[in-house]
Amino acid sequence: MAGEAALRAEALELQPVGALAPGRLQALAARLSRRVHLPVHQLAPADLPLRKVNGRDQLDAGHLLELLETRATAEARLLVGVTADDVAVPVFTFVFGLARQGGRACLVSLARTDPEFYGLPADPELRDGRAVCEVLHELGHLASLEHCANRSCLMSFAGNIEKVDTRGERFCDDCAARLPHWLAAHAGTGAATSGYCHRNEPA
Ligand SMILES: [Zn+2]
Ligand SMILES: [Zn+2]
Repeated sequence: MAGEAALRAEALELQPVGALAPGRLQALAARLSRRVHLPVHQLAPADLPLRKVNGRDQLDAGHLLELLETRATAEARLLVGVTADDVAVPVFTFVFGLARQGGRACLVSLARTDPEFYGLPADPELRDGRAVCEVLHELGHLASLEHCANRSCLMSFAGNIEKVDTRGERFCDDCAARLPHWLAAHAGTGAATSGYCHRNEPA
């Protein structure tokens, strides 16, 4: 059955990939804990044989996902790789994250969640709010959801940061109905009116 790993999940594990700024993983784990009804564990950094996309200074997201999937062997756990590096697949300039539908591992890049990446002033609240939304989107894929046509749904495809912000932080009702309980628990609740990932996040 598709998405069985997500249905059976009893914990999430955050796997740092490469160096992360102090406190970033903790901040992500804390925010994620408020959005999922599962324990969120932080793993120690792992020495992974990372690979760059040919001719580009970006991590090969497909390769990294394969590395994570081979490590995601624990029953009832989903593995979320977290990197500060920019990641891409050969056919896209970049990706915010990657997951295989129904898989048990996914990855997110924090690089483009940071307003400073775009030459804008630092905004840790916005940055961290976007990061947790990225993780939730990829977890949606692990729960077998595909991209949603509803532009204000967390499962809609975002090819740039503006779309990340306009799709907001909530799953639409149709998507929420297909999510495992631990991920759907907060779907559709709260006044998700601003459309910005960070606006409705508790501090
Ligand atoms: Zn997606
Ligand atoms: Zn949707």
